[in-house]
Amino acid sequence: MDLAPDHHAGRATISITDLIRDGLALPQDAAALAPVVDSFRMRLSPDMRHAATTSAAVARQFVPSTEELTTRPGEMTDPIGDDIHAPLPGLTHRYPDRAILHITKTCEVYCRFCFRRETVGDTGHLPGDQLDAALDHIARTPALWEVILTGGDPLVLSPRRLGAVMSRLAAIPHVEVVRFHSRIPVVAPNRITDALLAALQTRLTPWIVIHTNHADELTAPAREAIGRIARAGIGLLSQSVLLRGVNDTPEALETLFRTLYRLRVKPYYLHHCDMARGAGHFRTSIADGQSLMAALRGRLSGPCLPTYVLDIPGGHGKVPIGPAYLARHAGREWEMTDWKGRTHPYRDPEPDPQD
Ligand code: SF4
Repeated sequence: MDLAPDHHAGRATISITDLIRDGLALPQDAAALAPVVDSFRMRLSPDMRHAATTSAAVARQFVPSTEELTTRPGEMTDPIGDDIHAPLPGLTHRYPDRAILHITKTCEVYCRFCFRRETVGDTGHLPGDQLDAALDHIARTPALWEVILTGGDPLVLSPRRLGAVMSRLAAIPHVEVVRFHSRIPVVAPNRITDALLAALQTRLTPWIVIHTNHADELTAPAREAIGRIARAGIGLLSQSVLLRGVNDTPEALETLFRTLYRLRVKPYYLHHCDMARGAGHFRTSIADGQSLMAALRGRLSGPCLPTYVLDIPGGHGKVPIGPAYLARHAGREWEMTDWKGRTHPYRDPEPDPQD
C-alpha cells in the first residue's frame, strides 16, 4: 500500500505576501523573512490564519521570524533522537512496549518551534515498501502493545488511507492501542469528519493527543470538532509546549487547561521547549517552567494539571521536571511543601515488626 497520492489535497502553501494581505503584523519585513522560509517551511491553515489576525499568541507560533536563523549552543537538528532509535525508515522504537510510526511528514501548519522542523514538510507520506517494512517490524515484536502515529500529522491522511493503516495494525494480535498525535482537531477542524472518525474504529483502542498551546487556538469550530471526537468514544489527551511569548504565564496556562478539561480533554503533557535549531526565542528556563507549574497547583484541580516534561536531548526519553514537593532530611524524616509554599515535616512510620 502506497500512501503517497492524496497528500496535498486542499493544502495550499502560503507566502509572506499572503500574511501581509491578512493584516498580520510581521516581526520583520518580507525581504528579511525570505531566508527563514527558505530554511524552515511555512504553512498556516485557513483557521489559524484567521485566528492569527486577532491573537498574538497564535501568530507567534506560525509566523516566521529572523530569530529562527540563530542557532544557540546545544541546539540540534534531531533534539529528541528519533534517528538514533529508528530501526527502519518511518519507525522510532525507543521504549520496549510502544513504537512511533511516522506515516507522513506533512502538517496543516508548520509550527516555528517544532522539534521535527528539520524533517516535516511536503515530502509526502511513507512510501508503501517502507510502511510494509515498519508494519512487519511491529508484527515481529510481540512486546509492542501500543503504536503511536505521528509525523508530521497523521490525521492529514484521507479516511480511506487511515482506515487501511488501522486495519493492518488491528491484524497484529499483540497491538492493543493506537495513539494519534495531531494538531488537526484544532488547526483544521473541518477535517474531523464522520468518515475520518469511522476510519479510526477497529478492535484497537484509539486515543488522540491534541497538540494545542493557547486557548485562542480553541476556536468554535475546533471545540465542535473535539466534541465530535469525544462523542465517537475516542480517548482525548492534550500536549502543549511551554513557549515564551505564547503561554508562559499562569493565566494563559490556566485558561488553556481549564478549557481543555471542560471539552473532555485531559491535559497530559506540558513539554519544555526542545533544543531544536532556531527555536531559542521560544524557550524558557526550566526554573521558569517549575515556577509556572507551582503557581498552577492549587489554582487548578488535579485532572486539569499536565505533567511538565523534558525530552532529554540525545534521545534518552522523557522525564518529569516539575517542582519538587518532597525533600528528604535524614532517615525517615521528610519535608513536604504544600500548594501555598508552606513546609511541613513528615515522618515515615517505623515498620511493623510483624510485617
Ligand atoms: S503540527 Fe506537529 S509535527 Fe507539524 S510542525 Fe507543528 S509541532 Fe511539528
